[in-house]
Amino acid sequence: MRSVSVQASRSYEVLIGRGLLDEAGARVKAAAPKAETAVIVSGDRVWPLYGARAEASLEKAGFRVLRYLIPHGEQHKTLETYTGLLSFLCDRRLTRSDVLVALGGGVTGDLTGFAAATYQRGCGFVQIPTTLLAMVDSSVGGKTAVDLPGGKNQAGAFYQPLLVLCDPDTLETLPEEEFRCGCAEVIKYGMLGDAAFFASLRRRHVRGQLEDVIEHCVAMKRDIVHEDEFDTGLRRLLNLGHSFGHAVESCSGFTVLHGQAVAVGMAMITRAAVKKGFCAQETLARLLDILSFYGLPASCEYSADALAAAMRSDKKMTGGTMHLVVPEAVGRCRVLALPAEELGDWLREGGAR
Ligand code: NAD
Ligand code: MG
Repeated sequence: MRSVSVQASRSYEVLIGRGLLDEAGARVKAAAPKAETAVIVSGDRVWPLYGARAEASLEKAGFRVLRYLIPHGEQHKTLETYTGLLSFLCDRRLTRSDVLVALGGGVTGDLTGFAAATYQRGCGFVQIPTTLLAMVDSSVGGKTAVDLPGGKNQAGAFYQPLLVLCDPDTLETLPEEEFRCGCAEVIKYGMLGDAAFFASLRRRHVRGQLEDVIEHCVAMKRDIVHEDEFDTGLRRLLNLGHSFGHAVESCSGFTVLHGQAVAVGMAMITRAAVKKGFCAQETLARLLDILSFYGLPASCEYSADALAAAMRSDKKMTGGTMHLVVPEAVGRCRVLALPAEELGDWLREGGAR
């Protein structure tokens, strides 16, 4: 088993190991010794696969176990689902020393975390991520949120979990497309901060080195969160490929999956970076090569105007300035503050019509 320690506003362990799901009870008990009740929050697709094992393990450790299931999909990461969960907790008389256990992907984790952050001003919560994206990204670092009609993740809190348990065996049931989306985020880590890791991902498929990859990404994210827990500077690097990517997602009416859009976004920003002299052609060639190795897209059919319009409505745009993460080499990126007027040009240089 691997372990990565996070020291943020709360200190906790991220454990990575096959079979950890069946140890959830004892591990949660150790992290939340005063908790009597554990509420498993899970999605309607994940619960039938892993719910019984999580439940049995928690019961064995002496918890009274309750379950709250949410329908799967980003469209349910809403205030309505969140309120439903809070009311459930209140009706069951949950106390602040009890614990919520998020069993699922990033949607479940973000929503459960936000409920934990706000229920009685904060109760304990544990993440058991079951997607590659959630293991390498969303379960670590304490960003929790739900979407508002006006935008993604617009209501939320920084709230760290008590513990994160990653059991790579759970990824066996993850649809191939979702797995690839996780790979896009893994490639992102290599691109933004670690050339040797990037090279290792090309030599050997992520599937063949899951524990190493998850541990490495979690440690990289941990280091960034240590420096900038509340996302005012360095943490922006994690947005590599995301500014253009969000625009692609939004132009596609969300038929392009997030990880695919991030892949396209990374390719576009790197293409533009080459044209503008920030990095060498070789950097782009290596990125395109690894994206194709992982079956990820590198271009889109939307016009620069449509993408720029989508970006201007993006909530990450602050006062006419967009912060773009621009590659300087494989393993090194910088954050560039770009005036909104120049966006169209960057998008065209990136390959948009
Ligand atoms: P997701 O939670 O929607 O899961 C994807 C799909 O896979 C769902 O249909 C789910 O039911 C299914 N699934 C999950 N685990 C499975 C398994 N083991 N076997 C079979 N099916 C399984 O999507 P995601 O990609 O995990 O997360 C995306 C969300 O994460 C977004 O809402 C995004 O905003 C958020 N996010 C948050 C952070 C953060 O720092 N908090 C970072 C990145 C992304
Ligand atoms: Mg992402």
